[in-house]
Amino acid sequence: MTTATKIPPAPTWDIESIFPGGSKSKEFAEFRQKVKKDLNATASMLKTLPEGIDKHSLHAWVDFVVKLQSLYENIELVQSFCACLTSQDVNDSEAHAITSEGDTYLADWQKLRAELEARSLKVTDQEWEMLLDAPETKEIAFYLNELRTIAKSKMPIELESLTLELGVNGYHTWNHLYDKMAGELKVDFEEEGKVTTISLGQLATKMSSPDRETRKRAFHKLTDAWESRADLAAIALNAQAGFRLSLYKHRNWKSPLFEPLTMARMQEATLQTMWRVIERETPRLNPYIQAKKKLLAIDRFSWFDEFAPCGKMDRLYTFEEAGRFILDNVRPFSTHLADFIQMALNKRWIEAEDRPNKAGGGYCTGTGPLRQSRIFMTYAGTFENLLTLAHELGHAYHSWVLKEKPFFATEYPMNLAETASIFSETLVTNAALEQAVDPQEKLMLLDQKLQAAYVMFTDIYCRFLFDQAFYTERKSGVVQKDRLNQIMVEAQKKAFAGMLDEVGYHPLFWCSKLHFFLTDIPFYNYPYTFGYLFSAGVYDRAKMEGSSFADKYRALLADTGSMTTEDVAQKHLGVDLTQEDFWTNTVNRQLAEVDAFVKLVESNTE
Ligand SMILES: [Zn+2]
Repeated sequence: MTTATKIPPAPTWDIESIFPGGSKSKEFAEFRQKVKKDLNATASMLKTLPEGIDKHSLHAWVDFVVKLQSLYENIELVQSFCACLTSQDVNDSEAHAITSEGDTYLADWQKLRAELEARSLKVTDQEWEMLLDAPETKEIAFYLNELRTIAKSKMPIELESLTLELGVNGYHTWNHLYDKMAGELKVDFEEEGKVTTISLGQLATKMSSPDRETRKRAFHKLTDAWESRADLAAIALNAQAGFRLSLYKHRNWKSPLFEPLTMARMQEATLQTMWRVIERETPRLNPYIQAKKKLLAIDRFSWFDEFAPCGKMDRLYTFEEAGRFILDNVRPFSTHLADFIQMALNKRWIEAEDRPNKAGGGYCTGTGPLRQSRIFMTYAGTFENLLTLAHELGHAYHSWVLKEKPFFATEYPMNLAETASIFSETLVTNAALEQAVDPQEKLMLLDQKLQAAYVMFTDIYCRFLFDQAFYTERKSGVVQKDRLNQIMVEAQKKAFAGMLDEVGYHPLFWCSKLHFFLTDIPFYNYPYTFGYLFSAGVYDRAKMEGSSFADKYRALLADTGSMTTEDVAQKHLGVDLTQEDFWTNTVNRQLAEVDAFVKLVESNTE
């Protein structure tokens, strides 16, 4: 491994082979023109589409569905290519303009999809079955049935369309307003005698400082900043929840969980069983927290101690070394996965160079009909970067496995979206842990694993509990800021199972976490914990069955876009997610290393 502080630059990606010339590409412009024309042509098709489905009209229906599908795929390419352009150079103004063009195409497409929903309700079950039996639609029957079932539980099309339209300037605007407010919040922060004005994002990184005073000061700055906006945030939160609840009432959706669970293709029993097991087992993390306190030499564990570093890893990996490390440790499990990763590296599907004017963060995107992936990240050589690379390559593999499926059968829900990415990350982390000889490295790796369990079981659970309690109270009226703080602390007391000190809670967490304000995805919390544990369950199986599991893994991923969550688990793992067994086993596995961590801390602090 490289120990020098400088590593050679990581590679850039190839997007020239998608459309040459970047945002000025003639080919890309022509492609967008084609999408626009196709949108119009599909809208015209709809006008002449017969009401019923019989042997004469069947082909017209099939054509319409297939056209809708390929349009969606092409729009994905427009959007993902724009995303590639704007993230590789945040100042590419032309690419930003094309992004809004892509958004318009998507909105137009959604109207066409809504028309299909409405039409699906006007045909009989037998007619609908006839459509699903056609060779072109057989593989997307799940998608089409789901669309029709959801349409049945909605209001008449005119009311739904009106809601969609009003939502743009009403409902979703509360989310935009919140984002704007959070983006503009700045604080003055003093370090080494110098005061600088920084964003809340920059402030958050101070909360993983090794110095407790710095972490504490950063946390108080954060809560002070949000305290000054809490009244406004409460208005935004209450307004959007009120909008949602009115809509649910008119759709006759009894529970606020109906929408998120429908989106997740998951039963409530699965969700409740998962949380029940977590709540029961979480106290077993207590020795980990106690050991961490000893290591950090603190007697109280507060919210801001969560990300205090334990152990360290000084070495850097060149990009090439990172690729090799991932390949070496993935190959014993699956040659198919390893060959894919080798191909992605060879074909330069990864933008990794560390340079100015790139966007932050990392992602993996599809390329519509090309059925390739592109990974975006900034690689600086840390182990964390290596993990991000493994994570995103996992996403890319998931898409690769789905590449032979029709596009509508490749759309998997968010709770299954992290299966392959976390799986790859786990393979790599465990390999690193097995190979680590330096106690500091071992400590760091073990801490990272247990920290993940801690966050998933406590922090994420408290978000879920908050949302649930808030929605219950919101039904009877607006919930004031102080009460929101109270609900949050109650949720934290339950979720953290006494591991946080009495003065260590974070009442304004509801205010500072953008997830509570997302309008597109309600209850965006449990998918994290679900995905984490589901992926762990898949990993357990791989560990047990060895390389013979590789084909089953592939088959599991291939079904994620055309089945319910429970069916995927039943078919490929033989487990019933509504029962405790699966959850108890995976939770146990995640907690298995608590002892090792405690022992390591003891030998380090003696
Ligand atoms: Zn991911």
